[in-house]
Amino acid sequence: LETQLRLADRMTSMGTLAASVAHEINNPLSSVCANLSYLGEQLSGDTFSPELLPELREVLVETEEGASRVRSIVQDLKSFARGDEEHQGPIDVHRVIESSLRLVRNELQRYNAQLERVLEPVPPVLGNASRLGQVLVNLLVNAMQAFPEARSENNRIRVITRMEAPRRVVVEVEDNGKGMSQEVIERIFDPFFTTKPVGVGTGLGLAICHTIVQSMGGEIDVRSMPGRGTTFMLVLMSTEEEDTGERESDEPSLAEQS
Ligand code: ADP
Ligand code: MG
Repeated sequence: LETQLRLADRMTSMGTLAASVAHEINNPLSSVCANLSYLGEQLSGDTFSPELLPELREVLVETEEGASRVRSIVQDLKSFARGDEEHQGPIDVHRVIESSLRLVRNELQRYNAQLERVLEPVPPVLGNASRLGQVLVNLLVNAMQAFPEARSENNRIRVITRMEAPRRVVVEVEDNGKGMSQEVIERIFDPFFTTKPVGVGTGLGLAICHTIVQSMGGEIDVRSMPGRGTTFMLVLMSTEEEDTGERESDEPSLAEQS
């Protein structure tokens, strides 16, 4: 029953995402189409006059903006939409963290971000490694984009793993960037909510993270203070029945018997 509920959950959140993506792509695309047919008419021989050129250029610029907005959205969705990533199994969280950090290594350098790892040993969690990697990369990119100054000496990102309860594995991505107000926090998981300029943000990152974490049976939460920084917290479910401490013992524990 639990699995069924989870699957249902996942369908709704994917459905919500798909519906708003369709909507959000439709708007710029409709204006691209309308502009192109307008340009076509204006340029079709007999009615064309050179005085029209400045206006046509404006329409062209607007058309390019619409098209590049659609392209950003599609790029954000591309990695998410690969179909081969639904398999769920035990995954090694530390390996996924290291491969995500490798992916953003150049970015970290570009922002001059000091990276700190506080990695407590944790048992394998249930999920899909490449999906979890997408989540971490999204969180790391957001952390870097939150630094008020790109090359400041103070830019710091901390990645933490720890156990919260026997089966709850916590992964945190913490930054000392600009933080968020309560109004922003309330909307960050909404698809297409962004405070970033067009071309930098689509507002899809955290909506995708949320969908992925939910599909892994986990949770995602945030703590943030304006001017101080932000911590995103993932709670993932360990695939082991008991915590590692109890596993190492040869004596069957009370907990294992019940
Ligand atoms: P995008 O990055 O494209 O704007 P996201 O869904 O990744 O979309 O994030 C939504 C919004 O949440 C961002 O525009 C930003 O306002 C806020 N946000 C996310 N992560 C952070 C962070 N680490 N620090 C400050 N603000 C953040
Ligand atoms: Mg983002």
